[in-house]
Amino acid sequence: MSVITAVDVFPVQYPEPNDSDALRCLTFVRIRSSDGAEGWGEAVTMFPGATAATAIMVESVRELLVGRDPLANVALWHELQNEAWWYGHRGGIFSFALSAIDIALWDLKGRISGLSLAHLLGGARVDTLPTIASTHAFDPSLEVEAERHGRYVTEHGFKGFKIGMGKRGETHIGYEVARDIEFMRLLREAAGPDAMIMLDRGKKITWTLNDAIARVRGFEEYNLSWIEEPFEPDHSLELHALREQVGCLIAGGEREWDVHGYENALADGLIDVVGCDVGRVGGVTGALQILAVVEREHRWFNSHAWSSAVNTAVSIALSATTDRVLLQELKPDRNPMQDELISEPIRAVDGMVAVPTGPGIGVVPNLDVLMHYALS
Ligand SMILES: [Mg+2]
Repeated sequence: MSVITAVDVFPVQYPEPNDSDALRCLTFVRIRSSDGAEGWGEAVTMFPGATAATAIMVESVRELLVGRDPLANVALWHELQNEAWWYGHRGGIFSFALSAIDIALWDLKGRISGLSLAHLLGGARVDTLPTIASTHAFDPSLEVEAERHGRYVTEHGFKGFKIGMGKRGETHIGYEVARDIEFMRLLREAAGPDAMIMLDRGKKITWTLNDAIARVRGFEEYNLSWIEEPFEPDHSLELHALREQVGCLIAGGEREWDVHGYENALADGLIDVVGCDVGRVGGVTGALQILAVVEREHRWFNSHAWSSAVNTAVSIALSATTDRVLLQELKPDRNPMQDELISEPIRAVDGMVAVPTGPGIGVVPNLDVLMHYALS
């Protein structure tokens, strides 16, 4: 029987061109087994402190994993969760560690068995998924940003785009109702009638209920596909009032950690599109539990995949196993953790991205790239 022989952790910090070159952090985990196979996972730890803490968490459970059967990965997931009863109950930093370890174990299982993650999960229901560009605006000119986003559709073939508001850069969208609606008008004009357009409020911005209603009604005139997190999580009174006034889909949920958090977030029926990051919610095993709830409740599952190619490959495989998915988000501009990290970057062809078919997660991070961007 093959046993786990090594658990290594690689914290990285890299400039993200899709986020005005902001420095972002990720935590990678590599797990090796006695038959010479290795699996890779990633946690979307974002900030240096969370990344350093996650690395320590991974190292703290190394002894539990070494010598164990890598094919018993779901049993190990439950054992790891039990181990973190005091500091990882229903989320927190330990969920990052669990996510990276769990993804690495699923990858390892695929490498040992020769099966793709999609096959391990019971099979993909589709071979490709429609993609949108998931972006931040940064130019001070709304016209320039509208034209840039239009080109993602008209030149690069994306089926649409989602723009995060309240981000770095000079565009300052999300702050003035009339200006935001004008931006939406320009976006629709540039992208054409069929493009999906989504807008995501962003943590730095606070909208009053009246402003949110005015905005979303204005966006809807130009056929907004969904508004994402118009209010902070748990602001269900505002969400309920907004819901009564608008017809577009409402997205949310991405800040939850586990199935219990998602069940609570979905209980009042106000979230249609459920954001879920496999690098945060306990990996593939955690995400499968959440996906089951999304399917039962007839909502839409939406991978929050805005980190590395490891996360993207896993997210695509997971999303391909359900019919409760509308699309796959991709960072459109060349970036280190997608385009340098693996030999064949994950890209859409004619707006469709292929479900990985190679063993495990289907991608292997380049160790030199991880070392180059190592968090010091
Ligand atoms: Mg979001």
